Amino acid sequence: PEARTPLMAGNWKMNLNHLEAIAHVQKLAFGLSDKDFDAVEVAVLPPFTDLRSVQTLVDGDKLKIRYGAQDISAHDDGAYTGEVSGPMLAKLNCTYVVVGHSERRQYHGEAEESCNAKVKAAYRHGLTPILCVGEPLDVRKAGGHIAHTLAQLDGALKDVPAEHVASIVVAYEPVWAIGTGEVATPENAQEVCAAIRGRLAELYDRPLSEGVRVQYGGSVKAGNVAAIMAQPDVDGALVGGAALNAEEFVKIVRFRD
Ligand code: PEP
Repeated sequence: PEARTPLMAGNWKMNLNHLEAIAHVQKLAFGLSDKDFDAVEVAVLPPFTDLRSVQTLVDGDKLKIRYGAQDISAHDDGAYTGEVSGPMLAKLNCTYVVVGHSERRQYHGEAEESCNAKVKAAYRHGLTPILCVGEPLDVRKAGGHIAHTLAQLDGALKDVPAEHVASIVVAYEPVWAIGTGEVATPENAQEVCAAIRGRLAELYDRPLSEGVRVQYGGSVKAGNVAAIMAQPDVDGALVGGAALNAEEFVKIVRFRD
C-alpha cells in the first residue's frame, strides 16, 4: 500500500568510527538522488560515537538521509554508567532507535520487560523505535516461529498506546538469518510479517496495523532485496553487513531498479 513508504535502514552494528561514518554518509549522499528519496526512506543506524558527526553532516548539507541509534536506555538520566538516554538521542535529532536487536537480546540479556521499557523511553522523547523481533533456529525448526515472534511483539508493546504504536517500525529478523548469509525465503518473510500486522490489528485496530511498517532483516543484499520487497507485508529492510558498503547499500535502496 502506498501509505507505507519503504524504510531501508542500515544497522552498522559496532563498525565505522566517526571519520569513517562521515565518509560513508557522503558516499550515500553522492550515490542517491531526490528521486530515490521520493520513493524510499533511507536511514543509517551508526554507533553512538558517530551520531554527532552524522548529525553535523546531515544538517550542514541538508541531506534527506535519516539516522538513529542502535539502543537506548530505559532511563532518562541518572546513575546508569555506560548508557545513553532518550533525551541525548533526541538532542542529536535522531529519528529512530533500534530496540531489542537479537544481538542485544543474546549478549546483553534483553528480554520483553527491557524492550517494553525502551519502547516507552523512545516515545517519551519523540524517537521512533525500530522494534526487532524474530525466532532462533531451534524455534523455527520446531514450527514455533510465529508464536515466538508474536510473544516478543506483545511483550514489547505492553501498555504502549495506539497513538504511539501507529508510528512504530517492526523489524522481523529471524536470528538464524542475521549475519549468516542465509536469507529467509520471500514466502517465509511474508508469512511472519503478515502475522505481525495481524497481531497489531488484534492489539489495536486494522487501520493502525495497515499503516505500520514491517521490515525484514537477515542477510539482505542487493541481489535478494527485490524479491523480499515484492511481498505485500514487507515494507522495508533492516540491513546489517551489506549496509557497510555504501555502493551496495545504494543498490539496496534502489531495489526497484
Ligand atoms: C541486522 O543486524 O539487523 C542484520 C539483519 O544483519 P545482516 O544483514 O548482516 O544479517
